[in-house]
Amino acid sequence: MNRLKARLRPNRRARRPQRRRNGATAQPILKSPQEIRIMRESGRVVARVHAELRQAIKPGVSTWDLDQLAAETMQKLGARSCFLGYRGFPAHTCTSINEELVHGIPNKRRVLDAGDIISIDVGVFYRGFVGDSAWTYAVGEIAPETQQLMAVTEKSLYLGIEQAVSGQRVKDVSRAVQRYVEANGMHIVREYTGHGVGRAMHESPQVLNYVAGDADGELVMQPGLVFALEPMVQLGTRLTRTLKDEWTVISKDRSMTAHFEHTIAVTNNGPEILTLP
Ligand code: MG
Ligand code: MG
Repeated sequence: MNRLKARLRPNRRARRPQRRRNGATAQPILKSPQEIRIMRESGRVVARVHAELRQAIKPGVSTWDLDQLAAETMQKLGARSCFLGYRGFPAHTCTSINEELVHGIPNKRRVLDAGDIISIDVGVFYRGFVGDSAWTYAVGEIAPETQQLMAVTEKSLYLGIEQAVSGQRVKDVSRAVQRYVEANGMHIVREYTGHGVGRAMHESPQVLNYVAGDADGELVMQPGLVFALEPMVQLGTRLTRTLKDEWTVISKDRSMTAHFEHTIAVTNNGPEILTLP
């Protein structure tokens, strides 16, 4: 029993969004135009799952209900969750409410209240390729500072995406996210990062949401590079901790948190968001 438990215990160093890594990394696997066509379909599946979730989010709904809806939608579209079974993760999506930043586990007893915000991370395998997108949703009316947190985090994602241009470096993306979030007096989580996406959920490079002088930040982007950018922002401080369930990451001071993520491709015509309807 203990041994089984030990085996199922998730590896803290390999969680999603990818935990920050130090040191050099492998060269990224560039995708052909044909592969990007498939990844666009995979991304569209993710967007459709989010569209269903957005409709269903309201007070009284449990995170379990939302996870079931996501699973049914994935199945209908011929996709499957990347998260289910990943290092023992027990659900199809991650559902994280309020101070929960990422990796919350859907639960029948966890019911949404008006004034909550919920971040849902959706990752699928479709025709051999991954699509990965997280979004934070308001449940009914929310406090103005929470609205502001969501708006700043979402905008930082798009400012980062704008920099995903061939010839620029990965750190140019990171810098754009960091500048905007910090100019608004909010805090970027350091321990979790964006990542290359392809046949595997986590590929090279690591894509930080701040500039840190890491080797991957120096990588010059070129057409065919596909990655997930995913700013994780907190109102109080940048510190996090992990709950006893060994998955759920919360802000250490329990301030509100937000998480927005798209999978994007660097193309000859600039950045393309793949996780769109
Ligand atoms: Mg991701
Ligand atoms: Mg994700």
